[in-house]
Amino acid sequence: MTPEEFRRRGHEIIDWLADYHAKISDFPVQPATLPGDVKAMLPAMPPVQAEGFDQIVADLDKVVLPNISHWQHPRFFGYFPSNSLGSGILGDLVSSGLGILGLSWQSSPAITEIEEVTVDWFRQMVGLSSEWFGVINDTASTSTLVALLCAREKTTSFSLARGGLQAQTNPLIIYTSSSAHSSVEKAALLAGFGRENVRMVSVDDQFAMDPTALEDAIDADIRSGFTPCAVVAAVGGTATVSVDPVSKVARIARKHGLWLHIDAAMAGNAMILPELRWMWEGIEDADSVVINAHKWLGVPFDCSLYFVRDESHLLRVMSADPSFLQSKADEKVRNLRNTGIPLGRRFRALKLWFTIREQGVSGLQARLRRDISLAQDLRSKVEATPDWEVIAPVVLQTVCIVYRPKSVPPDRLDDFTRAWAHAVNTSGQAYITPATAAGHWMVRVSIGTITTAASDIEMVWRTIQEAAAVLVPEFS
Ligand SMILES: *Cc1c(COP(=O)(O)O)cnc(C)c1O
Repeated sequence: MTPEEFRRRGHEIIDWLADYHAKISDFPVQPATLPGDVKAMLPAMPPVQAEGFDQIVADLDKVVLPNISHWQHPRFFGYFPSNSLGSGILGDLVSSGLGILGLSWQSSPAITEIEEVTVDWFRQMVGLSSEWFGVINDTASTSTLVALLCAREKTTSFSLARGGLQAQTNPLIIYTSSSAHSSVEKAALLAGFGRENVRMVSVDDQFAMDPTALEDAIDADIRSGFTPCAVVAAVGGTATVSVDPVSKVARIARKHGLWLHIDAAMAGNAMILPELRWMWEGIEDADSVVINAHKWLGVPFDCSLYFVRDESHLLRVMSADPSFLQSKADEKVRNLRNTGIPLGRRFRALKLWFTIREQGVSGLQARLRRDISLAQDLRSKVEATPDWEVIAPVVLQTVCIVYRPKSVPPDRLDDFTRAWAHAVNTSGQAYITPATAAGHWMVRVSIGTITTAASDIEMVWRTIQEAAAVLVPEFS
């Protein structure tokens, strides 16, 4: 492509995306795609001769659009909001367009320095003190893995410089709760702790980690000759947006010298609202925290902010300094490769920088407050309807509901719940996520795409009630 062709095609693609966003609510939220449908539309072999760009663009309409779930749809209530604000999309485009890599400060200074500044803005936005240092990773899974690697090396006084975990005599133990995201256990396994050494601390009736159970588990492990290493607490657990008691957990972690990592991947975004910072009261006593700006906040995926209190410890665990990456500037700058797993660094900070500037902190706050209020509206509607129940506190924008009509026997409720959720999702009207909490199925309505309005909440609630009503006879 010449620069002129690029200009023309680039305008076409932006127009195509703008049209997509303008007409997104006409699409069924979830496609009716069956496994293999998409592959069947694609040639198994790569084209030997170049294809026309028109053909490629045409396949976006033919192959892609009919076969995607529309995460930006105003009635996407699945998983969690993963919003792509226009400014962030353009920031991401510029990152690709510039085609630069941050291997070191020297390899492209603005990558490092814009990241340092925007991440520090974000730190201020969520009310963390200046004791924290942050970087951008791809996902929370990576950030939590890095946290557990740092914890491992702290507890073992840098075993990686000797025989590693393999030379430890006592097993190291990780504590998290049954409300924690699956990425926590995965990180523990990848960091070499072993499944037998991951404790799932029990939760209370609001799905929050029980600090007494945590302390009991630590004491029992010490008595057995194990070495407690780290606690991962959730501020915004996955299923119900449960909130672990950070200050109580922090006190226990301090007492026993454990690393405390806070998984605030989703809910951390809400900390830009001062009135919600009670959710992580005690955060200053944690060692690390992850917040995915690519969720509710609106920065296009992927943009996960990882903050630590001890930058030098992070650098010591993660550093690699081959000769070809050394430069004269090294004394005076940060080389962000030494904060994480990959060497090459994408210019992810651009989309965060664009988004924060274009929205302003107040713009971001207003949208989050809108969603919190929409969630409260839905909660009231559900609670006011006979046999419908909200099964977990609605602290942010997720409403967890069950329907227990008297005619459906208790042992069929789980199947009934999954059936009406499936019916809602296949209707194309809205998309919701069934999940288990305390061993039973419920449905999460996770509110907060950019364009979700009160009328969408009314519509999903109507769709849910209608879908469930139709199925009652079958399960009675
Ligand atoms: C979304 C989420 C994760 C995982 O996020 P990735 O960035 O996809 O790895 C982890 N923990 C919580 C609480 C989450 O909400």
